[in-house]
Amino acid sequence: MLIGVLGGGQLGRMLALAGVPLGMRFRFLDPSPEAPAGHVGELIVGSYEDRAALDRFAAGVDVVTYEFENVPADAAAYLAARGRVAPTPDALRVAQDRMNETHLFHACGLNLHTKVWPMERAGLSAAAASIGLPLVVKARRGGYDGKGQAIVRTLAELEAEWDRRSGRDVFLESFVPFTRELSLVAVRGEDGTFVAYPLVENVHRGGILRRTTAPAPNVSPALQQQAETHLRAIMERLGYVGVLAVEFFEHEGRLLANEMAPRVHNTGHWTIEGAATSQFENHCRAVAGLPLGDTRSLGPAVMVNLIGDIPDPRVVLAIPGAHLHLYGKAPRAGRKVGHVTLTGLDEAAVAQSLARVEALPGAL
Ligand code: AMP
Repeated sequence: MLIGVLGGGQLGRMLALAGVPLGMRFRFLDPSPEAPAGHVGELIVGSYEDRAALDRFAAGVDVVTYEFENVPADAAAYLAARGRVAPTPDALRVAQDRMNETHLFHACGLNLHTKVWPMERAGLSAAAASIGLPLVVKARRGGYDGKGQAIVRTLAELEAEWDRRSGRDVFLESFVPFTRELSLVAVRGEDGTFVAYPLVENVHRGGILRRTTAPAPNVSPALQQQAETHLRAIMERLGYVGVLAVEFFEHEGRLLANEMAPRVHNTGHWTIEGAATSQFENHCRAVAGLPLGDTRSLGPAVMVNLIGDIPDPRVVLAIPGAHLHLYGKAPRAGRKVGHVTLTGLDEAAVAQSLARVEALPGAL
């Protein structure tokens, strides 16, 4: 089976690393000749807007999937008119526009914090009064990893932020003094089978994920159930096949949905060593129409992202329980270049190893 993947980043690379043992081959489309998935599959370098490149990419593939949610939805729709694409391009349209995403969340019964959509500059004062300060200004489209968002504390700051962006394509939402951030990664198969991993706890810094603890401590069965109900509702509504992630704020014991990603997710990387079947393998299984694998956690796992700096592998691999994943990317400030997952340790040993991981260049 030949799987075509739109996007050739680290997520595509890890999809191939999981799918090759199942007898799958991979072809990627990415605008960059340096795309890290090029080391593990065929790379077609081309623009997502270039129909000739899309045709070359799609020739002979059994199914097309994507690993990057900013692939133009029109490119996915073009391919869906000619062959199988999973997840549905509609999921891209939703995830690319936070207004569509908000509508979907509402329709699926998810709880959300207050959001105010595009308005006039003259309306800022009333908006700030209704939402309360501080509040968060976000980009409606194209924001990721905390890019395009700003926390403002006063009306003057809000007006300055509005002017800086000329009021274009922004929306406002209440700042949530959350207890913690949780996310759920779930998978839906072609036959509608639904499976989910345990909720995990995430720490972000500067809007970028730094650490995931899996499973999240102190999660009641009811909370896990609630999160699963939410993802199942979204997936059924979209006719979704593959892995979906939703990030939540836990606030006053409730889950508030922040955003969804229609793809394998950074908060699911721990599943490679920490779960019975990884999110990458399960995504490959789902889009290929194969039975899904067990999502059970095999024990406590902690994943730490390596950002902007690559540590010496000799140092990382000397840490008990550490698994190193490097993405084959040149280090640059703010760029995810790899991650380390700790598994197979008891709680005290995790704490010891985690302190060593967090002292690595590129870690926390
Ligand atoms: P986002 O770009 O929406 O994924 O946000 C990235 C990160 O910024 C989140 O994971 C939170 O840590 C923080 N953040 C985003 N929105 C809010 C909010 N409304 N209240 C508090 N923190 C937020």
